[in-house]
Amino acid sequence: MTREIGHFVGGKTVAGTSGRFSDIYNPSTGAVQAKVALAGSDEVGKAVENALAAQAGWAAANPQRRIRVLIEFYNLAMKEIDSLAELMSSEHGKTVPDARGDLQRGIEVVEFAIGAPHLLKGEFTDGAGPGIDMYSMRQPLGVVAGITPFNFPAMIPLWMAAPALACGNAFIMKPSERDPSVPMRLAELFIEAGLPEGVLNVVNGDKEAVDALLHHRDVSALSFVGSTPIAEYVYATGCANGKRIQALGGAKNHLIVMPDADMDQTVDALIGAGYGSAGERCMAVSVAVPVGEQAADALLEKLVPRVESLRIGPSSDADADYGPLVTKQHLDKVRSYVDLGVEEGADLLVDGRGFTMQGYEDGFFLGGCLFDNVKPDMRIYKEEIFGPVLSVVRAKDYEEALELPNAHEFGNGVAIFTRDGDTARDFAHRAQIGMVGINVPIPVPLAYHSFGGWKRSLFGSHNQHGPDAFHFFTKPKTVTARWPSGMKDGAEFVIPTMK
Ligand code: NAD
Repeated sequence: MTREIGHFVGGKTVAGTSGRFSDIYNPSTGAVQAKVALAGSDEVGKAVENALAAQAGWAAANPQRRIRVLIEFYNLAMKEIDSLAELMSSEHGKTVPDARGDLQRGIEVVEFAIGAPHLLKGEFTDGAGPGIDMYSMRQPLGVVAGITPFNFPAMIPLWMAAPALACGNAFIMKPSERDPSVPMRLAELFIEAGLPEGVLNVVNGDKEAVDALLHHRDVSALSFVGSTPIAEYVYATGCANGKRIQALGGAKNHLIVMPDADMDQTVDALIGAGYGSAGERCMAVSVAVPVGEQAADALLEKLVPRVESLRIGPSSDADADYGPLVTKQHLDKVRSYVDLGVEEGADLLVDGRGFTMQGYEDGFFLGGCLFDNVKPDMRIYKEEIFGPVLSVVRAKDYEEALELPNAHEFGNGVAIFTRDGDTARDFAHRAQIGMVGINVPIPVPLAYHSFGGWKRSLFGSHNQHGPDAFHFFTKPKTVTARWPSGMKDGAEFVIPTMK
């Protein structure tokens, strides 16, 4: 019998009642290993009702009490990190060490959120006017929801859950239907850590569950991470329903290679950032831009043999550079982009389409692919591929190289490799991109900074984690107070000003 994954509501797992399910694969073997229930609007409604009932009590607990739950959760998650990594790897296809990194980055946001008592402190002005004091506070929004993508099944749910809970909200998690087991286990760990039942519920599902959350009057805010078309839809629909929305979308991250860059270090960076996790990262480098023909030739001379010798393996192979893609459907999509690149006239220097993994012939594997002479008007350049495919776009000079990411519709991450401080500084200022790396290929900010792109990589005005998360998950209130002894007799008809 295939294992069935339900939902997590009121502190326990419950079976789905909609009768709709989605298959969960083992990407290394291609076999269906479980089925996840897809919630209908009734089930979402029950989860919201449950969260609403629990939220006021949780908000009333003082911030230190709340973060003690996070501290205990941190301890439990660290104790279980190896088995969680294996579970993640078996559904997602990323290698176990990479899955561990996914968990670790999420747990770091829990660590940051433990600073909530400090981060939630308001401001106070003593004597803002005659006998008048003024102070501000940040209050939770109520019931908030998080909708997450398949590619970071622990990190991204924790980006949202940790600050949302620390601020005193109840949180409804809607993980990706492709790898929901780790989010379900994280929810159990929160309850084991002492979180009151109902403060964190998980509804599994697809568009139907997302739509139910977007239209539910008791959901105050939604945090979304996924592809750009869905991010835009979630943003527009949520805003039209009066909700606070942050929606992070797709990416096409460039790495500019200046002629003075250390080529060995640059190639190491491109191999790891282009092909790690099979390119299924929103911060993966998918475009390399060597500046000048000499730099391009020097780069490719070293890069081609490295792409040809990538070590691909089942996700359980800890020494593999990367594992299979998440589903057959996604594999077919990525492969069709490689076909398209050839049709569009780019030079396919390394063709991974023929790769098969011995002993895992039905797994969703694709060998590393490398294109040269990709042009900005090609679809393989304009669109996000999200696979182990790197495109080289040659630029004649620095200005032409800078214009490429700046003119692109996405603005998530970008990097420059150079030894020249002047160029690096100019690049950091002029790049129209949210996260910039200088000799760092994947410039993912640490938990106490905020993560977010520009342009069509983020809809809304708040980034993830860091101080922004405490602003997104709270509403500010300012109180002006005067006591009778400070009041003058008589009504005032003119707007009060500071004379
Ligand atoms: P996706 O957009 O297909 O799914 C994301 C979430 O939206 C899932 O929970 C899914 O169930 C839900 N969803 C899917 N279709 C929907 C619809 N029609 N209506 C409403 N909800 C829907 O994304 P994915 O394939 O799971 O993840 C990969 C994408 O996420 C890539 O584009 C990647 O760049 C992006 N991503 C972005 C960031 C970032 O920080 N900017 C981080 C990770 C991933």
